Amino acid sequence: MSLDASKVKVTRVETPSKPRPNDELVFGQTFTDHMLTIEWTADKGWDVPEIKPYGNFSLDPSSCVFHYAFELFEGLKAYRTADNKISMFRADKNMARMNKSAARICLPNFEQDELIKLIGKLIEQDKHLVPEGQGYSLYIRPTMIGTTNGLGVGTPDRALLYVITSPVGPYYKTGFKAVRLEATDYATRAWPGGVGDKKLGANYAPCILPQLQAAKRGYQQNLWLFGPEKNITEVGTMNVFFVFKDSKTGKKELVTAPLDGTILEGVTRDSVLELARENLSSDEWIVSERYYTIGEVEERAAKGELVEAFGSGTAAVVSPIKEIGWNGNDITVPLLPGEQCGALTKQVAEWIADIQYGRKEHKDWTRIVADLN
Ligand SMILES: *Cc1c(COP(=O)(O)O)cnc(C)c1O
Repeated sequence: MSLDASKVKVTRVETPSKPRPNDELVFGQTFTDHMLTIEWTADKGWDVPEIKPYGNFSLDPSSCVFHYAFELFEGLKAYRTADNKISMFRADKNMARMNKSAARICLPNFEQDELIKLIGKLIEQDKHLVPEGQGYSLYIRPTMIGTTNGLGVGTPDRALLYVITSPVGPYYKTGFKAVRLEATDYATRAWPGGVGDKKLGANYAPCILPQLQAAKRGYQQNLWLFGPEKNITEVGTMNVFFVFKDSKTGKKELVTAPLDGTILEGVTRDSVLELARENLSSDEWIVSERYYTIGEVEERAAKGELVEAFGSGTAAVVSPIKEIGWNGNDITVPLLPGEQCGALTKQVAEWIADIQYGRKEHKDWTRIVADLN
Protein backbone atom coordinates (compact mmCIF):
# COMPACT_ATOMS: atom_id res chain seq x y z
CA MET A 1 0.00 0.00 0.00
CA SER A 2 1.28 3.46 -0.76
CA LEU A 3 1.14 6.24 1.79
CA ASP A 4 -2.40 7.63 1.82
CA ALA A 5 -3.28 10.65 3.94
CA SER A 6 -7.02 10.18 3.44
CA LYS A 7 -6.91 6.93 5.43
CA VAL A 8 -5.55 8.57 8.60
CA LYS A 9 -7.00 7.38 11.90
CA VAL A 10 -7.17 10.09 14.54
CA THR A 11 -7.30 9.42 18.29
CA ARG A 12 -7.41 12.63 20.25
CA VAL A 13 -6.14 13.29 23.78
CA GLU A 14 -8.92 13.66 26.34
CA THR A 15 -7.84 17.06 27.59
CA PRO A 16 -5.83 19.23 25.20
CA SER A 17 -2.98 21.02 26.95
CA LYS A 18 -2.84 24.80 27.31
CA PRO A 19 -0.18 26.76 25.45
CA ARG A 20 2.83 27.66 27.58
CA PRO A 21 3.82 31.30 27.87
CA ASN A 22 6.19 32.21 25.04
CA ASP A 23 9.09 32.90 27.42
CA GLU A 24 9.01 29.29 28.69
CA LEU A 25 9.60 27.69 25.29
CA VAL A 26 12.95 25.89 25.15
CA PHE A 27 14.03 24.46 21.80
CA GLY A 28 12.93 20.85 21.43
CA GLN A 29 12.11 20.32 25.12
CA THR A 30 8.33 20.24 25.07
CA PHE A 31 6.09 18.62 22.52
CA THR A 32 2.50 19.04 21.44
CA ASP A 33 -0.31 16.66 22.44
CA HIS A 34 -0.26 14.47 19.34
CA MET A 35 2.15 12.60 17.11
CA LEU A 36 1.87 10.98 13.71
CA THR A 37 3.03 7.37 13.23
CA ILE A 38 3.05 5.21 10.11
CA GLU A 39 4.36 1.67 10.04
CA TRP A 40 5.89 0.14 6.95
CA THR A 41 6.64 -3.49 6.09
CA ALA A 42 8.34 -4.84 2.99
CA ASP A 43 5.30 -7.10 2.42
CA LYS A 44 2.48 -4.62 2.78
CA GLY A 45 4.06 -1.22 2.25
CA TRP A 46 2.74 1.77 4.22
CA ASP A 47 0.06 0.96 6.78
CA VAL A 48 -2.78 3.25 7.86
CA PRO A 49 -1.34 6.53 9.22
CA GLU A 50 -2.27 7.30 12.81
CA ILE A 51 -2.46 10.56 14.69
CA LYS A 52 -2.55 9.76 18.39
CA PRO A 53 -1.53 11.08 21.80
CA TYR A 54 2.22 11.74 22.12
CA GLY A 55 3.79 8.81 23.94
CA ASN A 56 6.46 6.14 24.22
CA PHE A 57 7.18 3.45 21.66
CA SER A 58 7.71 -0.18 22.53
CA LEU A 59 10.55 -1.73 20.50
CA ASP A 60 12.48 -4.98 20.73
CA PRO A 61 16.04 -4.41 22.07
CA SER A 62 17.42 -6.13 18.97
CA SER A 63 15.66 -3.62 16.69
CA CYS A 64 18.11 -2.53 13.96
CA VAL A 65 17.79 1.17 14.77
CA PHE A 66 19.54 0.57 18.10
CA HIS A 67 22.51 -1.28 16.63
CA TYR A 68 23.25 -0.11 13.11
CA ALA A 69 21.86 3.42 13.10
CA PHE A 70 19.00 2.94 10.69
CA GLU A 71 17.72 6.41 11.45
CA LEU A 72 17.17 9.64 9.57
CA PHE A 73 15.33 12.83 10.34
CA GLU A 74 14.17 16.18 9.06
CA GLY A 75 13.65 19.58 10.64
CA LEU A 76 11.21 22.18 9.37
CA LYS A 77 8.87 24.75 10.84
CA ALA A 78 5.29 25.98 10.72
CA TYR A 79 4.54 29.62 11.45
CA ARG A 80 1.51 31.50 12.67
CA THR A 81 0.91 34.20 10.08
CA ALA A 82 -0.30 37.76 10.68
CA ASP A 83 -3.83 36.70 9.65
CA ASN A 84 -3.83 33.80 12.14
CA LYS A 85 -3.30 30.94 9.75
CA ILE A 86 -0.58 28.32 10.07
CA SER A 87 1.81 27.94 7.21
CA MET A 88 4.63 25.48 6.54
CA PHE A 89 7.82 26.76 4.90
CA ARG A 90 9.16 24.85 1.86
CA ALA A 91 8.03 21.45 3.19
CA ASP A 92 8.42 19.91 -0.27
CA LYS A 93 12.19 20.43 -0.06
CA ASN A 94 12.36 18.64 3.30
CA MET A 95 10.26 15.74 2.02
CA ALA A 96 12.48 15.29 -1.03
CA ARG A 97 15.58 15.35 1.18
CA MET A 98 14.00 12.87 3.60
CA ASN A 99 13.40 10.42 0.77
CA LYS A 100 17.04 10.79 -0.35
CA SER A 101 18.24 10.10 3.20
CA ALA A 102 15.95 7.07 3.46
CA ALA A 103 17.08 5.64 0.11
CA ARG A 104 20.74 5.90 1.19
CA ILE A 105 20.20 3.57 4.16
CA CYS A 106 17.72 1.21 2.46
CA LEU A 107 14.66 2.53 4.26
CA PRO A 108 11.47 2.98 2.24
CA ASN A 109 10.46 6.02 0.24
CA PHE A 110 7.03 7.57 0.55
CA GLU A 111 4.68 9.84 -1.40
CA GLN A 112 5.96 13.27 -0.43
CA ASP A 113 2.72 15.16 -0.82
CA GLU A 114 0.85 12.63 1.32
CA LEU A 115 3.27 13.15 4.20
CA ILE A 116 2.89 16.93 3.88
CA LYS A 117 -0.90 16.49 4.09
CA LEU A 118 -0.52 14.24 7.13
CA ILE A 119 1.76 16.74 8.87
CA GLY A 120 -0.89 19.34 8.09
CA LYS A 121 -3.50 17.17 9.81
CA LEU A 122 -1.22 16.67 12.79
CA ILE A 123 -0.73 20.43 13.11
CA GLU A 124 -4.48 20.94 12.79
CA GLN A 125 -4.99 18.83 15.96
CA ASP A 126 -2.54 20.96 17.95
CA LYS A 127 -2.96 24.29 16.20
CA HIS A 128 -3.75 26.15 19.44
CA LEU A 129 -0.20 25.28 20.58
CA VAL A 130 1.55 27.02 17.66
CA PRO A 131 3.03 30.09 19.35
CA GLU A 132 2.41 33.58 18.10
CA GLY A 133 4.95 36.30 17.43
CA GLN A 134 8.07 37.05 15.41
CA GLY A 135 10.68 34.36 16.01
CA TYR A 136 8.15 31.87 17.40
CA SER A 137 7.12 28.78 15.47
CA LEU A 138 6.29 25.10 15.61
CA TYR A 139 9.36 22.96 14.98
CA ILE A 140 8.44 19.78 13.10
CA ARG A 141 10.62 16.68 13.41
CA PRO A 142 9.81 13.90 10.92
CA THR A 143 11.86 10.79 11.68
CA MET A 144 12.23 7.34 10.15
CA ILE A 145 13.75 4.30 11.85
CA GLY A 146 14.35 0.69 10.83
CA THR A 147 12.50 -1.62 13.24
CA THR A 148 13.51 -5.07 12.02
CA ASN A 149 14.33 -7.33 14.97
CA GLY A 150 17.54 -9.35 15.06
CA LEU A 151 21.25 -8.64 14.96
CA GLY A 152 21.91 -9.55 11.34
CA VAL A 153 23.12 -6.54 9.35
CA GLY A 154 20.88 -6.19 6.34
CA THR A 155 18.07 -4.35 4.62
CA PRO A 156 15.31 -3.53 7.12
CA ASP A 157 11.98 -5.14 6.25
CA ARG A 158 10.12 -3.04 8.82
CA ALA A 159 10.21 0.69 9.43
CA LEU A 160 8.44 3.36 11.41
CA LEU A 161 7.94 6.89 10.14
CA TYR A 162 6.84 9.32 12.83
CA VAL A 163 6.46 13.03 13.29
CA ILE A 164 6.56 15.01 16.53
CA THR A 165 6.24 18.77 16.89
CA SER A 166 7.63 21.24 19.40
CA PRO A 167 6.59 24.87 19.98
CA VAL A 168 9.78 26.95 19.88
CA GLY A 169 10.93 30.50 20.47
CA PRO A 170 13.60 32.54 18.72
CA TYR A 171 17.06 31.00 18.80
CA TYR A 172 18.35 34.33 20.07
CA LYS A 173 15.99 35.61 22.74
CA THR A 174 17.44 39.12 22.80
CA GLY A 175 18.25 39.72 19.15
CA PHE A 176 21.29 38.22 17.44
CA LYS A 177 24.26 36.96 19.38
CA ALA A 178 27.31 36.52 17.18
CA VAL A 179 29.35 33.37 17.89
CA ARG A 180 33.02 32.40 18.03
CA LEU A 181 34.02 29.38 15.93
CA GLU A 182 37.00 27.11 16.07
CA ALA A 183 38.24 26.16 12.61
CA THR A 184 38.53 22.39 12.98
CA ASP A 185 40.88 20.25 10.90
CA TYR A 186 41.65 17.50 13.46
CA ALA A 187 38.16 15.99 13.06
CA THR A 188 36.17 15.61 9.85
CA ARG A 189 32.39 15.93 9.65
CA ALA A 190 31.93 14.55 6.13
CA TRP A 191 34.02 13.30 3.24
CA PRO A 192 33.70 12.50 -0.48
CA GLY A 193 31.70 9.33 -0.99
CA GLY A 194 30.33 9.59 2.54
CA VAL A 195 26.88 10.55 3.78
CA GLY A 196 27.42 14.13 4.99
CA ASP A 197 24.79 15.33 2.53
CA LYS A 198 22.11 13.16 4.15
CA LYS A 199 20.31 13.89 7.44
CA LEU A 200 21.25 10.60 9.06
CA GLY A 201 21.40 10.49 12.86
CA ALA A 202 24.75 8.72 12.54
CA ASN A 203 26.32 11.96 11.28
CA TYR A 204 25.62 13.90 14.47
CA ALA A 205 26.82 11.97 17.52
CA PRO A 206 30.49 12.04 16.37
CA CYS A 207 30.40 15.85 16.14
CA ILE A 208 29.71 16.44 19.84
CA LEU A 209 33.20 15.60 21.13
CA PRO A 210 34.96 18.11 18.83
CA GLN A 211 32.33 20.67 19.89
CA LEU A 212 33.17 20.05 23.56
CA GLN A 213 36.87 20.38 22.77
CA ALA A 214 36.23 23.70 21.03
CA ALA A 215 34.05 24.82 23.94
CA LYS A 216 36.92 24.20 26.37
CA ARG A 217 38.91 26.75 24.40
CA GLY A 218 36.03 29.23 24.41
CA TYR A 219 34.46 28.57 20.99
CA GLN A 220 30.74 27.77 20.64
CA GLN A 221 30.91 25.79 17.39
CA ASN A 222 33.25 24.04 15.00
CA LEU A 223 33.95 25.50 11.59
CA TRP A 224 34.43 22.23 9.73
CA LEU A 225 37.39 22.22 7.34
CA PHE A 226 38.04 19.53 4.78
CA GLY A 227 41.10 18.17 3.05
CA PRO A 228 44.69 19.33 2.64
CA GLU A 229 43.38 22.61 1.14
CA LYS A 230 41.34 23.17 4.34
CA ASN A 231 38.16 24.03 2.49
CA ILE A 232 35.43 25.57 4.58
CA THR A 233 32.39 23.30 4.54
CA GLU A 234 29.84 23.91 7.32
CA VAL A 235 29.53 25.30 10.84
CA GLY A 236 28.21 23.02 13.60
CA THR A 237 25.01 21.68 12.03
CA MET A 238 24.48 24.64 9.74
CA ASN A 239 25.61 25.72 6.30
CA VAL A 240 27.91 28.71 6.25
CA PHE A 241 28.22 31.88 4.18
CA PHE A 242 31.02 34.45 3.95
CA VAL A 243 30.98 37.92 2.40
CA PHE A 244 34.16 39.30 0.85
CA LYS A 245 34.74 42.67 -0.76
CA ASP A 246 37.26 43.08 -3.55
CA SER A 247 39.20 46.18 -2.54
CA LYS A 248 40.11 46.99 -6.17
CA THR A 249 36.65 46.74 -7.79
CA GLY A 250 34.56 47.35 -4.68
CA LYS A 251 32.40 44.39 -5.65
CA LYS A 252 31.11 42.13 -2.87
CA GLU A 253 30.85 38.37 -3.05
CA LEU A 254 28.52 36.12 -1.06
CA VAL A 255 30.18 32.71 -0.93
CA THR A 256 29.13 29.27 0.24
CA ALA A 257 30.55 25.82 -0.46
CA PRO A 258 29.20 23.86 -3.45
CA LEU A 259 26.93 20.80 -3.00
CA ASP A 260 29.59 18.21 -3.75
CA GLY A 261 28.22 15.46 -1.49
CA THR A 262 30.00 16.65 1.67
CA ILE A 263 27.57 19.51 2.33
CA LEU A 264 24.05 19.09 3.69
CA GLU A 265 21.63 20.59 1.16
CA GLY A 266 20.09 23.09 3.53
CA VAL A 267 16.68 24.49 2.68
CA THR A 268 17.76 27.73 4.35
CA ARG A 269 20.99 27.69 2.29
CA ASP A 270 18.94 27.35 -0.88
CA SER A 271 16.57 30.12 0.24
CA VAL A 272 19.46 32.49 1.06
CA LEU A 273 21.07 31.87 -2.34
CA GLU A 274 17.83 32.36 -4.25
CA LEU A 275 16.81 35.51 -2.36
CA ALA A 276 20.32 36.95 -2.64
CA ARG A 277 20.40 36.34 -6.41
CA GLU A 278 16.98 37.97 -6.71
CA ASN A 279 17.43 40.95 -4.42
CA LEU A 280 21.08 41.96 -4.59
CA SER A 281 22.12 44.18 -7.48
CA SER A 282 24.49 42.32 -9.79
CA ASP A 283 26.45 45.56 -10.27
CA GLU A 284 27.53 45.35 -6.65
CA TRP A 285 27.34 41.65 -5.84
CA ILE A 286 28.41 38.21 -6.99
CA VAL A 287 26.72 35.18 -5.44
CA SER A 288 29.00 32.13 -5.58
CA GLU A 289 28.84 28.46 -4.75
CA ARG A 290 32.53 27.65 -4.87
CA TYR A 291 35.36 26.14 -2.87
CA TYR A 292 37.09 28.53 -0.49
CA THR A 293 39.57 27.87 2.28
CA ILE A 294 40.34 29.06 5.78
CA GLY A 295 43.56 30.43 4.21
CA GLU A 296 41.53 32.69 1.92
CA VAL A 297 39.44 33.91 4.86
CA GLU A 298 42.59 34.64 6.87
CA GLU A 299 44.24 36.47 3.95
CA ARG A 300 41.22 38.52 3.05
CA ALA A 301 40.60 39.44 6.69
CA ALA A 302 44.19 40.72 6.83
CA LYS A 303 43.54 42.84 3.70
CA GLY A 304 40.31 44.22 5.15
CA GLU A 305 38.28 42.32 2.57
CA LEU A 306 36.29 40.14 4.97
CA VAL A 307 32.89 41.80 5.40
CA GLU A 308 30.77 39.35 7.42
CA ALA A 309 29.90 35.68 7.90
CA PHE A 310 26.89 33.70 9.09
CA GLY A 311 25.57 30.17 9.48
CA SER A 312 22.19 29.16 8.03
CA GLY A 313 19.70 26.52 9.16
CA THR A 314 16.05 26.02 10.07
CA ALA A 315 16.49 26.42 13.85
CA ALA A 316 18.20 29.84 13.91
CA VAL A 317 17.58 30.79 10.24
CA VAL A 318 20.82 32.84 10.27
CA SER A 319 23.47 32.88 12.95
CA PRO A 320 26.13 35.62 12.79
CA ILE A 321 29.83 34.88 13.34
CA LYS A 322 32.23 37.29 15.07
CA GLU A 323 35.51 35.39 15.43
CA ILE A 324 37.25 32.32 14.07
CA GLY A 325 40.04 30.61 15.97
CA TRP A 326 42.66 29.25 13.59
CA ASN A 327 46.34 28.41 14.01
CA GLY A 328 46.47 29.92 17.48
CA ASN A 329 45.06 33.28 16.32
CA ASP A 330 41.57 34.70 16.17
CA ILE A 331 40.36 36.01 12.82
CA THR A 332 37.98 38.90 13.53
CA VAL A 333 34.80 38.93 11.48
CA PRO A 334 33.35 42.46 11.29
CA LEU A 335 29.90 43.25 12.74
CA LEU A 336 27.80 46.37 12.21
CA PRO A 337 28.86 49.04 14.74
CA GLY A 338 27.18 48.34 18.08
CA GLU A 339 25.35 45.30 16.70
CA GLN A 340 25.71 41.53 16.78
CA CYS A 341 25.47 40.87 13.04
CA GLY A 342 26.49 42.13 9.62
CA ALA A 343 24.30 44.07 7.19
CA LEU A 344 23.53 41.19 4.84
CA THR A 345 22.87 38.78 7.73
CA LYS A 346 20.23 41.18 9.00
CA GLN A 347 18.72 41.61 5.56
CA VAL A 348 18.57 37.88 4.85
CA ALA A 349 16.85 37.28 8.21
CA GLU A 350 14.21 39.85 7.26
CA TRP A 351 13.64 38.53 3.75
CA ILE A 352 13.07 35.02 5.05
CA ALA A 353 10.92 36.01 8.05
CA ASP A 354 8.67 38.11 5.80
CA ILE A 355 7.88 35.03 3.74
CA GLN A 356 7.61 32.65 6.71
CA TYR A 357 5.18 34.90 8.59
CA GLY A 358 3.09 35.54 5.50
CA ARG A 359 3.94 39.24 5.09
CA LYS A 360 5.29 38.58 1.60
CA GLU A 361 4.62 35.89 -0.95
CA HIS A 362 7.36 34.04 -2.73
CA LYS A 363 6.51 31.44 -5.34
CA ASP A 364 5.10 28.31 -3.65
CA TRP A 365 7.37 28.52 -0.61
CA THR A 366 4.56 28.51 1.95
CA ARG A 367 1.58 26.27 2.34
CA ILE A 368 -1.34 27.05 4.67
CA VAL A 369 -2.15 23.94 6.74
CA ALA A 370 -4.53 25.26 9.39
CA ASP A 371 -6.68 28.28 10.16
CA LEU A 372 -7.27 29.65 13.65
CA ASN A 373 -9.93 32.12 12.57
C1 LIG B 1 19.94 20.36 8.88
C2 LIG B 1 21.32 20.78 8.56
C3 LIG B 1 21.62 21.97 7.90
C4 LIG B 1 20.59 23.02 7.60
O1 LIG B 1 19.56 22.59 6.79
P1 LIG B 1 18.20 23.41 6.76
O2 LIG B 1 17.36 22.65 5.80
O3 LIG B 1 18.52 24.78 6.30
O4 LIG B 1 17.67 23.40 8.15
C5 LIG B 1 22.94 22.23 7.56
N1 LIG B 1 23.92 21.37 7.87
C6 LIG B 1 23.69 20.23 8.54
C7 LIG B 1 24.82 19.33 8.84
C8 LIG B 1 22.38 19.90 8.90
O5 LIG B 1 22.14 18.78 9.56
